[in-house]
Amino acid sequence: MTTPWITIDLAKITHNARTIVHLCRQYGMTVTGVTKGTCGLPEVARAMLRGGVVSIGESRLKNIYRLTASGVHTTYMLLRTPPLSEVQDIVTTVDISLNAEVAVIAALSEAASRYSRVHGIIVMVDLGDLREGVWPDDLLPFVRQILPLPGIRIVGLGTNLSCYGGVIPSVDNMQQLVERVDQIERTFGLHLQYVSGGNSSALPLIAAGKMPLRVNHMRIGEAILLGRETLQRTPWPATFQDAFLLHAEVIEHKVKPSVPLGATGQDAFGKTPVFVDHGTRDRVIVNIGREDVDPAGLTPLDTRLSILGASSDHLLLDVTAAAGSIRLGDCLTFAMNYSALLAAMTSPYVDKRYVSCPAGSMASIPD
Ligand SMILES: *Cc1c(COP(=O)(O)O)cnc(C)c1O
Repeated sequence: MTTPWITIDLAKITHNARTIVHLCRQYGMTVTGVTKGTCGLPEVARAMLRGGVVSIGESRLKNIYRLTASGVHTTYMLLRTPPLSEVQDIVTTVDISLNAEVAVIAALSEAASRYSRVHGIIVMVDLGDLREGVWPDDLLPFVRQILPLPGIRIVGLGTNLSCYGGVIPSVDNMQQLVERVDQIERTFGLHLQYVSGGNSSALPLIAAGKMPLRVNHMRIGEAILLGRETLQRTPWPATFQDAFLLHAEVIEHKVKPSVPLGATGQDAFGKTPVFVDHGTRDRVIVNIGREDVDPAGLTPLDTRLSILGASSDHLLLDVTAAAGSIRLGDCLTFAMNYSALLAAMTSPYVDKRYVSCPAGSMASIPD
């Protein structure tokens, strides 16, 4: 087998979803399962729905098309702010979108009216992470402008932290969100169905019992897919970290020096590498590279192996500590972080295979 592949354990994804849904339910929150790390793979969405998520969140319309075409019938939430150029497709495909621009909401309103639909709007509030969202002070005039628009309904307020600025969800910033919700409900006589507090980075605050009660919804991807919270990336209790594993074949195995010979310039990606002399080492090449995966996000399951580097099609490892047990043609297995998962799931050169391991068989993943 020369094609690298990812194994996807759907039972583990369902288990992880169930763990997160159970935690959130204890504190009065529902969970939207976020599939964008897998390019909206229908089997992954189904596994999440079996685990109790109430809807599916996606950043890309193409992924939502893939899901609906495969017969995954659920409520869809578009996470990335809609482009003006796509409003028509969005109102006919997606139930709810996350928004922060009046002009976009006006265009959604116009398109929805044309199709006699009502499109749900969650207004995003920027609580300091500086990615998407309306600045809190601008929120009242923002809502005042969109409230009269036909074809849309303001179904909630949301926020997203830990994505650009790395801002940690706290009692303080979550309380700010709740205060804005109260203010809008009072001012306009609305009831907001969703107070959407965040992503996998909010789990520590939730588990500590400190999430304000009025926050009633979470959008969770990574904690379900990879079993980690996203502040420190520590494994989340009672979840699997190995629902996705990457496998690639050893195509060269040789003993070579650890420092290149001759004068050196830039490598294949324009970097100037630096080498430390560890003498001659047992090295292997496996058939995967930057065209398939983010090599920095790979961890070999065999802790005796270490990754030396990668070019487009080759991943190099030092296997000296395990030299006797690795042969040409063997397959090496790697855990992936979110960045590696995203790339490998997107690469057409990486096969995707479903496996189901007996419940409780948890491979230990080195940190
Ligand atoms: C990706 C995304 C999420 C999910 O984030 P995870 O860290 O994978 O849980 C939630 N909300 C928005 C707006 C997103 O873009």
